[in-house]
Amino acid sequence: MDLLGTRNYLTMPNNFIRLLNTFVKPFWPWLILSAFLTLLTTISTLPLPWIIQYLIDDVIGNKTGDLMYVLFLTLAVTIGSRGIMMAHQYVVTFLGQCVKFHIRHALVAHLHRLSMSYFDQTQTGKLMSRIISDGYAIQQMLSSGMVNIFTDFLTLIVIITVLFYIHIKLALITILVLPCYAITHKAFAGRMRKTSKKVRRKTDEVMANLEGSISGVRVVKSFVKERYESDQFKKKVTQHFKLNMTQNVQGTLWNAIAALVSGVGGAFVLWYGGYLIQAEELTIGVLLAFYAYTAYVFDPIVNLISINVTIQRANAAIDRLFETLDTEPLIRDEPGAIALPAGGGHVQFEEVTFGYSHLAPILHQISMDVGPGMKVGIVGPSGAGKSTLVKLIPRLYDVDAGGISIDGRDIRHLQLSSIRSRIGMVPQESTLFSATLADNIRYGRLDASDEEVEDVARAANIHDFIMTLPDGYNTRLGEQGVKLSGGQKQRVAIARALLTDPQILILDDCTSSLDSQTEAKIQTTLHHVLKDRTGFIVAHRLSSVALCDRIYVLEAGRIVEQGSHDELLRTGQIYSRMHEQQYRGDMEMVHG
Ligand code: ATP
Repeated sequence: MDLLGTRNYLTMPNNFIRLLNTFVKPFWPWLILSAFLTLLTTISTLPLPWIIQYLIDDVIGNKTGDLMYVLFLTLAVTIGSRGIMMAHQYVVTFLGQCVKFHIRHALVAHLHRLSMSYFDQTQTGKLMSRIISDGYAIQQMLSSGMVNIFTDFLTLIVIITVLFYIHIKLALITILVLPCYAITHKAFAGRMRKTSKKVRRKTDEVMANLEGSISGVRVVKSFVKERYESDQFKKKVTQHFKLNMTQNVQGTLWNAIAALVSGVGGAFVLWYGGYLIQAEELTIGVLLAFYAYTAYVFDPIVNLISINVTIQRANAAIDRLFETLDTEPLIRDEPGAIALPAGGGHVQFEEVTFGYSHLAPILHQISMDVGPGMKVGIVGPSGAGKSTLVKLIPRLYDVDAGGISIDGRDIRHLQLSSIRSRIGMVPQESTLFSATLADNIRYGRLDASDEEVEDVARAANIHDFIMTLPDGYNTRLGEQGVKLSGGQKQRVAIARALLTDPQILILDDCTSSLDSQTEAKIQTTLHHVLKDRTGFIVAHRLSSVALCDRIYVLEAGRIVEQGSHDELLRTGQIYSRMHEQQYRGDMEMVHG
C-alpha cells in the first residue's frame, strides 16, 4: 500500500527526471546549500520539547534546574531556528525562481524555432498559458514542494527515532495512526488528481478565450458583440471558478481529515501517557515533551500528502513542457545544408503543389521562372493562393510536390537563415511592436545607423510623416504610444524590409491600405528600390503591378494567365476583365 502517497515522488516519471537533469542540475550548489539548510532546519526544531521537559521535571518538579537556563535556551533556539528557516526559504525560493526563469526562456526560445504550421494549429492563449502557468506550477513544486519533501522526510525519520528513544510504547501508539492516513489519502487522491487536470484544461480555455476576444476587439466592436464576448468569458470563468472551488473544497476536506487523524493520534498519546503517569511510569515533563514531538510527526505527514496535490499539478505541467520542447520544427536545416552562395536572385518554381493540409492542395503545379532582377506581379481573386505562393519562397512552409530553387539551388538543401537573410518580406498584416518608430524600422537590421533608418523611411515615403510627430523617430508605438493608420503601418513595414537590403523583395498586398496618391508615390519609390532586386508584388489593385516585367494571374491555385500588363490587356481575357472592372469602380468612386 502507498502509505503516504509517496509513489509519486519515489517512482519519478521520466519527465520528472528530465526536468531535474535539464533545469535543476545546473543549480547544484544551491541544491546542496538547500539540503544543508534543510538538515539545520530539522535539527533546530528538536530542542524545544526537550526544554519543556527540563522546565517541568527539573525546574518545577525536582527543583534542580535553572529557570534562567530555560529562558536563555528558549530564546536562542527560537531565534536560531527562525533565522535558519528564513535562509532556507530564501534559497528555496531563489532555486524555484531560477528554474522557472530557465523553463520560460527555453520554451520561448523553442517556440521561435517552430514552423508556421505549429502556430496555425495552436492557439496563442494556450501557448501563453503554458509559458506562464506551467512555469509557475513547476516553480511551486520545486520551492514549496520538492524541497519540503526532503525536510519532511528527514524530520519524520529523526522524530520517530527520538520518539522511540523517549518511550517505545507511546511511540508505537503514535505510528499506529499512520495507516489511517493511507486509507483517507486513497479515498481522496484520485479525485484530487482528476480535478487538478480539469482546472488546468479550463485555465487554458479561459486564456485562449481572453486572447481571442482582446486581440479581436475591433471585430467584436464592429459587430456589436461586446455582450456576447463578455457572456462567453463569464461562462468559461464560471466553470473555472466552480472547478477551483471543488479543488479547494477537496483540499480543505483532506486537510481537515488529516488534522482529525493527527488529533486522534494525539488524544491516544495523552490518554495512555496519563495512565502511565498515574502508574508512576512516566513524568509529566516527558509526556508533554513527547506530545510536542508527536506534532512534528503528524505535520510532515500532512505536508507530504498535501505536496502530492502540488506534484500532481506540476506533473501535468512537466508533461506539457516536454511535449512542447520535444516538438521538432517541421522546417529546419537538413544535415549538410549549405549557405546560399552569392548570386543574382533567380527564383524558379517547378511544378509546385502545396496545401496547408496534405488532403486539400491550395496551389497546383505552379511553374514560374523569375530571372535575376525581374519584377513580377501576382494577381487574382481573393483566396486564389497568392499569399500562400509567396510564403513558400522563404520556406515558411515546404512544398508537397515539385520544388523551388534560388540561383539554381533547391531551397530545401540550403541553410534557412541564409535564404531568409536574402529575402525581404512585407506581409499583408504588418506587425509593429511596442517600441519606438526607429526601433520598429531597425528590427530589419539591428546594427543599422540612424542615417540608414532615415534613408529607408524616406524611400518608403514615411519620413515626412514621422517628422511631424513631436518625438520624431523616438515616438513610441503601441498600447501606451501613438497609433498608426493601416497605410502608415504598411510604410513602416516596407522601410523595415528595405533596411535588410534584400536581394529578393516580396510585397504581399502591402499597398492595399494606401490612398491612391500615396500609392502612386510609393509605386514609383518601390520600382526604384526594386531596381536591382528580384521583386514579387502581390496585389489586388492592378495599378500596383502595371509596371512589372511579368504578371501572373492566379485562380483557384493555378496560373491561368501570364504576360506583361499590355500583353494581358490585349488578350482580352481574365486580366483585362479585372482591369475593366477596377477602372469602372474607380470612375464610379470619382463621380460619386
Ligand atoms: P487574399 O487576396 O484574400 O489575400 P490570397 O489569394 O492571398 O487571398 P491565400 O491567403 O494564399 O489567398 O489563401 C489561399 C487559401 O489557403 C484560402 O482558401 C485560405 O483559406 C487558405 N489558407 C490560408 N492560410 C492558411 C493557413 N495558415 N492554414 C490553412 N489554410 C490557409
